[in-house]
Amino acid sequence: MPSHSLAAQPDQVDARQKLRLRRLLLSVAVYVPCGLMLAMVTWLGFLPPWFTPVWVVSFSCTNVFFFALIKTGVNLRFKDPSMTMAQMAVAIGAVAFILYYAGAIRGGLLILLLVILLFGVLQLTTAELLAMGTLCSAAYAAVIVLLTINQPAQINPRVEWVQWATLTATLAVMSPLVGYMSTVRRRLSESLRTIKDMAQRDALTGIFNRHHMGEEIDKEIGRCERGSPTFLALIVDIDHFKQINDTHGHLVGDQVLRTLASSTRDILRKADYMARYGGEEFVLILAVGNATEAWAACERIRAHVEQLHIPELQSRRLTISIGGTLFQPGDTQTSILGRADAALYRAKNRGRNCVELDLAATGAA
Ligand code: GH3
Ligand code: MG
Ligand code: MG
Repeated sequence: MPSHSLAAQPDQVDARQKLRLRRLLLSVAVYVPCGLMLAMVTWLGFLPPWFTPVWVVSFSCTNVFFFALIKTGVNLRFKDPSMTMAQMAVAIGAVAFILYYAGAIRGGLLILLLVILLFGVLQLTTAELLAMGTLCSAAYAAVIVLLTINQPAQINPRVEWVQWATLTATLAVMSPLVGYMSTVRRRLSESLRTIKDMAQRDALTGIFNRHHMGEEIDKEIGRCERGSPTFLALIVDIDHFKQINDTHGHLVGDQVLRTLASSTRDILRKADYMARYGGEEFVLILAVGNATEAWAACERIRAHVEQLHIPELQSRRLTISIGGTLFQPGDTQTSILGRADAALYRAKNRGRNCVELDLAATGAA
């Protein structure tokens, strides 16, 4: 069934949700070596024996929670559905928890906070990264204060505050740097999206272009060969379009093409596909499985165009001729378009403003 349409919004949401899950798994992957490192540190006697299991269970639970939010789509209601800041804040909490108990090796483990900050490159702005950097610095300061109050004999505050100042200075340099990288990354992916969009859309009408149509038909053929239901391919050609240009001018002609493309796209189902084939010709791929549905769909499109009111054309009616065919086993893009084009030629010869379908080979005529 054709699945590529102009209104691909839900597909995009899906793709973003998948990306968010991948990123979450990436951050969970960082917890794994961290857990192994903790096991080693515990084995060497720097952390109490209960620490690693408690740490692993607590932070597995929070990640399962994030996973559930994305899987159920609840995250889409948040201002930032990727929840990057929240995930980073939890990771900072996880490291602060380690730092509190890390004793003599606390200084070395501060580097974990810098690793967390690097994750901001995936999403955050410089201001947000500065906020996260400040949170890292504040978390370590809180650990020092708590240790000074609770276990004054275990801690050398002078060493800790020097370490804190070093960490804070490093974060102050790193945050804007990572923020800059994040901005560059975001701009690059936006540009890539724009370029991709421009490469597959027709500049005048905004619908897909001929190049994209070729790929789409090949995909449909592939789907049918794997057992999906057949599809209907149509070539729609505006009748006497040259006269419209000659009488009303090319700008009006352009406007007619735009109106026809957008209004026809609007009456198609989401799964249907429409592209500009060239000039005043369009190709449509419809999820239609038999002759009756095919005739009904074409007639609906033809009648829709006939009743369009285009002010620039004054009292003149716009009409189209449609030639179409159903996919049959062994078809190629050329054979499908060839049959549709021959049918269109017959429709023109029959007097225009009509539909001709080549369904003979399907046994559905
Ligand atoms: P028929 O009913 O047999 O299809 O006749 P027709 O006049 O529609 O077909 P013909 O092929 O003779 O003319 C097509 C015209 O479409 C000629 C061309 O100048 C015009 N055309 C092609 N692309 C554009 C475009 O982007 N904008 C405008 N305004 N006209 C275009
Ligand atoms: Mg033509
Ligand atoms: Mg024409």
